[in-house]
Amino acid sequence: MFPPVIQAAAPPLKPNNVLPPPRRRLPRPCHSRHPPIPIPHAIPPLWTPTAATLISSAHEAILVDPLFTTTQATALADWIDALFPDKRLTYIYITHGHGDHFFGLSTLRQRFPNATAVATEGVLKHMEQQISPAGQAVWETLFPGGQIVFPASPPAEALPAHDLTLELEGHKLHAVPAGHSNTDDSSFLWVPDLKLAVAGDIVYNNAYSFLAETLTAPLREQWIDAIQKVRSFRPETVIVGHKTPSAVDGAWNLDATERYIEMWGRLVGEAKDAEDMFDRVRREDPDRTGEFVLWWSCLQQFPREGNATAKA
Ligand SMILES: [Zn+2]
Repeated sequence: MFPPVIQAAAPPLKPNNVLPPPRRRLPRPCHSRHPPIPIPHAIPPLWTPTAATLISSAHEAILVDPLFTTTQATALADWIDALFPDKRLTYIYITHGHGDHFFGLSTLRQRFPNATAVATEGVLKHMEQQISPAGQAVWETLFPGGQIVFPASPPAEALPAHDLTLELEGHKLHAVPAGHSNTDDSSFLWVPDLKLAVAGDIVYNNAYSFLAETLTAPLREQWIDAIQKVRSFRPETVIVGHKTPSAVDGAWNLDATERYIEMWGRLVGEAKDAEDMFDRVRREDPDRTGEFVLWWSCLQQFPREGNATAKA
């Protein structure tokens, strides 16, 4: 005789305990990588590859650094549309005032009219300089023929100095001023939930660093201080503005950029002219990409006749 089958009744559902509370959803970071852009008549003839970062939550997203040519910015807007057709782009954050990180705002604003472009006060001042007639002339020499549509002034809103926080559906993202790096008044965006730093041009990833505005030992030290500021947050991921497209975004790029700046300072003391500096850097660190930026930096560090910048 088989024992009777007894089916245990499920305990009654408690109204307040039907399902466990949902776990807080983490933001999701992605970045759009863009290959070098040809520069007519320049030697070497390519701009350095560039990346933009998108951090999204369930319904909203924040873009960091909207790139610069119309072609790039259109590809970036298409990428955002394809990736997140149902999400709302709320903010566009600009890490620093160099035009290659924000001229794309004109295009992005047409495609995402409800997004607010924001930057720290120092970055906003630098952006104004870049869209001035003198600033535009420099960029049009490099990228002629209407490749860039310059944003209207003011190009962004300044975040209040006492509150540099951006909200992403309950997640807080922090803008952090970092002083001089590859230019004055740089900043990065810190995403605590992900231990992620979006570092702009404070850090490079396998691309030659732009040192044309960092020609003295004190300025190089300030840049290293800016790297240390990023490092002090103990990031696990560091996304940068210029990188070899396939390079991984590890925190080790903090150390690699610092070593590169130190190497630059040592070679300045050894090289005799811009060509010699270029060769020495290439010999010591041959695998980086973006030789135009390297050559530009060498020319500023070792100016030829008629160039006012001095070797320091
Ligand atoms: Zn840059």
